[in-house]
Amino acid sequence: MRIAGDLLRIAKGEVLGDSWSRQVYSVDASHYEISPAAVVCPADDHDVEQICKYSFAKKVPITARGAGTGLLGQALSDGIILDFTKHMNRIVKIEDDHVVVQPGVIKGVLDKELKKRDKFLPPDPASSNYCTIGGMIADNSSGVHCLGYGNTIDFLDAVDAVYSDGEPGFASASRFDVRMEKLAKLLSPHVDVIKSGYPTVSKNSCGYRLDAVMSDRFMPHKVFAASEGTLGIMTSAKLRILDIPVYRCMMVLGFEDLLGAVSAAPTILKFSPVALEMLDDTVLSRDRTGDKGCLLFVEFAGDSRKIEARLKACREELAGNCSVLEYASDEQSMAKIWRARKGALNDIMKLTVGSRRPIGLIEDTVVHPELLADHAASLLQTYRENKLDYVMYGHVGDGNMHTRPLVDTGSGKEVNLIQRIAGIVFGQVIGSGGTITGEHGDGLARVGYIEMMYGKQITSLFSAVKRLFDPDFIMNPGKKVPVQ
Ligand SMILES: Cc1cc2nc3c(=O)[nH]c(=O)nc-3n(C[C@H](O)[C@H](O)[C@H](O)COP(=O)(O)OP(=O)(O)OC[C@H]3O[C@@H](n4cnc5c(N)ncnc54)[C@H](O)[C@@H]3O)c2cc1C
Repeated sequence: MRIAGDLLRIAKGEVLGDSWSRQVYSVDASHYEISPAAVVCPADDHDVEQICKYSFAKKVPITARGAGTGLLGQALSDGIILDFTKHMNRIVKIEDDHVVVQPGVIKGVLDKELKKRDKFLPPDPASSNYCTIGGMIADNSSGVHCLGYGNTIDFLDAVDAVYSDGEPGFASASRFDVRMEKLAKLLSPHVDVIKSGYPTVSKNSCGYRLDAVMSDRFMPHKVFAASEGTLGIMTSAKLRILDIPVYRCMMVLGFEDLLGAVSAAPTILKFSPVALEMLDDTVLSRDRTGDKGCLLFVEFAGDSRKIEARLKACREELAGNCSVLEYASDEQSMAKIWRARKGALNDIMKLTVGSRRPIGLIEDTVVHPELLADHAASLLQTYRENKLDYVMYGHVGDGNMHTRPLVDTGSGKEVNLIQRIAGIVFGQVIGSGGTITGEHGDGLARVGYIEMMYGKQITSLFSAVKRLFDPDFIMNPGKKVPVQ
């Protein structure tokens, strides 16, 4: 209560210290539960600076929060929670090729505004109707259409932030503050290690994305992507936007089983779809009894009707392997089809019964799409050998598999089994040049596996970066870098 009382004197925005509010903010979309000391809805950048100064002086942890849809406990803390959805949720400006937004803007709200201007910001998590741009940057979120266009990190052009000591900062390729100059000095001697130490897959939310920071040009703002609020609190961001393609068309393909579907992915990729998604009957048959087999959703988009020819050629090459269940090229029908795919995780979360849950530890691995069939076969064998019920779906065009075994979290034996399986699965994924998380991030669940992913040299760079931005480990501690 003392912290809430102090904050009441400091912040213009609401301060919530009652037990009901603290309970509401003690959960997100993960399995964790941590009650915060207090919650503040900052009114503006100045509020954020003042609150950070307070937490720096008192050494109280501080954690930013968007919509709380993170799947690994990223937005949970026993310190101060800053909720950006209430006041810092403004679209500041929409230009021809970029937007400037406050972090609490809901992606779905931005989508609607952009659509009026025939523009879009491609990363489209299934949670778009609730999740915020701040959360998307901090988790480096992705989605169905990132195959064709890239992930949040690829669209991030500039960030304004407040650092752990309450000082405001700014970062873009052309203009950055003194702390970012220090970041350049810190990382420059290690460019070769960084260049060779990252996976070469199309999406990655594990650790800090130093590979993107030290690309051909110094890109300091990219350090915030996938950083889970551990380096600074973002107060505004500039993101690149694109024109909505003139033509779009899609088909839904039915395969006999998951391995047949996943094996077809490399063939389909030759035709350059913008989306290639998979939904297995382990998800489908739970709410529509009787559905069997595995579906692939394939979308083509572009500014000429040639995309129709690409879809036709793709269908012909696959003839005999699968059946075309649906075809659509009008917006309404396509939106309806995509809703079925995007509802997958929501449906899966409803499978929780008591302590038996679809556990999200190995739920976001990425391997090269050509290796996905082997990876899927190995997962299926592991589930079979250990008699585990499971669900599987994912962004197969990116080699990104979402899978969750159903586990009794009340049973020490089952929890140990999942940890043992995670060690094996992550080992295989890393060994094949992939990542343990493509888009959902590390949070509390995977922070312990980051060193396994990158090795000692790069993880010690992560610790050095963390110390540069947050020497007292008060910014969302326990995420990205273990508490020291
Ligand atoms: C049903 C469902 C479906 C999903 N589908 C997808 C999907 O298809 N693709 C995908 O990539 N993800 C998906 N997710 C995961 C999740 O929705 C995304 O990671 C989302 O971008 C998180 O946004 P949020 O606003 O809820 O962030 P939160 O969960 O509130 O926070 C996430 C992280 O962002 C940090 N953060 C928030 N604001 C700031 C700020 N201003 N400054 C610094 N750090 C900040 C927080 O501290 C935290 O570490 C899904 C989740 C659910 C529940």
